[in-house]
Amino acid sequence: MRSPVTEYLDAVRESCIADGDDGEVASYIPELAEADPDLFGLAMCTIDGTVYASGDAEHRFTIQSLSKPFAYALALADRGRDEVLRFVGVEPSGDPFNEISLEDNGRPRNPMINIGAITTHALVGPEGATAEESTERVRAGLSAFAGRQLEVDEAVCASERETADRNMALAYLVRARGKLQDEPHDAVDGYTRQCSLLVDVRDLAVMAMTLASGGRNPVTGEQVVSARVCTQVLSVMATCGMYDAAGDWMTSVGIPAKSGVSGGLLGSLPGQVGIGAFSPRLDGFGNSVRGVRACERLSEDMGLHLMQAP
Ligand code: GLN
Repeated sequence: MRSPVTEYLDAVRESCIADGDDGEVASYIPELAEADPDLFGLAMCTIDGTVYASGDAEHRFTIQSLSKPFAYALALADRGRDEVLRFVGVEPSGDPFNEISLEDNGRPRNPMINIGAITTHALVGPEGATAEESTERVRAGLSAFAGRQLEVDEAVCASERETADRNMALAYLVRARGKLQDEPHDAVDGYTRQCSLLVDVRDLAVMAMTLASGGRNPVTGEQVVSARVCTQVLSVMATCGMYDAAGDWMTSVGIPAKSGVSGGLLGSLPGQVGIGAFSPRLDGFGNSVRGVRACERLSEDMGLHLMQAP
């Protein structure tokens, strides 16, 4: 028998589908343009580790920018907050995800846009870690957040590498300002592998709930990072997670969140719920149209807005 929660998620999905099919599938990474635009999955993980899922919940897609908060969490855990802040800031940029966005001191503005995420990738692992070690630590760390071993989609990874000129330029720029700890090629290579890890909406919900549970994976029980690290990550997600639509998102949905170009979206409400959504059609900011709608409904129906008095 389907649980009432799953039936509710079905109803949310259907209402979002009824709203139309606007938005465009990302095409600047050639492999992503092949995605079926009608795929739509939605999942929710509660604090006790129960996962409810609806629609195309088994479909796996590349995590893309949704990897950024988790890589940031690992860098904070490995290097400490002060050290990470020497290299990457925490100010919303108000810029698109691939913008050249540096502070006067050469620090990327935040870890949720590409320039800051490439810099952050190079900070994962102990000081002096090789590029391969950082990249493997990211794969293993994100797997711990998900509670299963994640693998790279080699076709998407190769496709993005071939078209990564802009990310490469961003990496060289940060390197020139003394803020990139790896060689630009290695950093972009590792970051691209990070973005190509395959997940489904259940994984996203569990990963989001792990951040919302002070770093303890509610399914496996593993303490992946500390509660302090999660507070830092969720704060940056709340202010910078939705790129140049971050303010709009925070006022209308009110949940720390992150979106990505493959159409994934995750929301992480401290102590309450982890949400994962996937639908490849994107709006002008690069956020999933149906994913955003679904989160708006969940927030409204369940009173999830962080700024709402109980
Ligand atoms: N891998 C993508 C890129 O670097 C991630 C961007 C995104 O999801 N917004 O361009």
